[in-house]
Amino acid sequence: MGKRMLEYEDSYRHKGMRENLIKGLREKGISDEAVLKAMMEVPRHFFLDLEFENIAYEDRAFPIAADQTISMPYTVAFQSQLLQIKPFDRVLEIGTGSMYQSTILAEMGAIVLTIERQKELFEKTKKFILKNKYPAAKLRFIYGDGFSGQPAFAPFDKIIITCGAPFIPPKLIDQLKPGGIMVIPLAEDQHHKMLRITKNENGTYSEESFADFSFVPMLPGKNSEAN
Ligand code: SAH
Repeated sequence: MGKRMLEYEDSYRHKGMRENLIKGLREKGISDEAVLKAMMEVPRHFFLDLEFENIAYEDRAFPIAADQTISMPYTVAFQSQLLQIKPFDRVLEIGTGSMYQSTILAEMGAIVLTIERQKELFEKTKKFILKNKYPAAKLRFIYGDGFSGQPAFAPFDKIIITCGAPFIPPKLIDQLKPGGIMVIPLAEDQHHKMLRITKNENGTYSEESFADFSFVPMLPGKNSEAN
């Protein structure tokens, strides 16, 4: 007998696991129905290696390539909710990682640009399994340094940083529209304080502070090494 080719599929069992995950997120206080609907729609196990399809639906972070992690589902839900996404919002994400967070935003109808500094992870985006559903016009992957943002595509309605920032990057504030929102985990001692920054019409900004989270660090420059 030939060995069965392993490939990704989204079965009733996976959907069942997703329903449980969504139920758990509701219990933890996530209430934005558009976020929950997108997380029900997108198969999270497609973003991990095949053998981790069960773990994909536990509410925990998980290692991906290049020593990085896919954020835990609660963190993805929390940041997505803070962004108050509307269809056709132009969103910049810093830290593509597994592509899961950016896919959730695209599923919510945003036009997403996402930047990754690790070459190895960027190379994987070329084989994105859902690229027919989310073509480059909806979800575009860029290899670069998030501290510089993406001025050619600015201004953005929303900016989301998915790595722990040492400070609020001034170039990203510049690239935010007046009235725009940036969600950023800001380093503070051993953890990251989740902030929502709203840019005012006069270019100044106001800050709201939320719970503590833990992220891999936002690092300067690009990394072309395979770690
Ligand atoms: N949003 C991702 C989370 C990945 S972890 C997901 O859904 O899986 C954070 C990612 O940020 C890592 O892949 C890390 O390499 C990347 N990163 C760190 N500093 C960066 C920078 N300056 N510019 C772009 N990406 C950065």
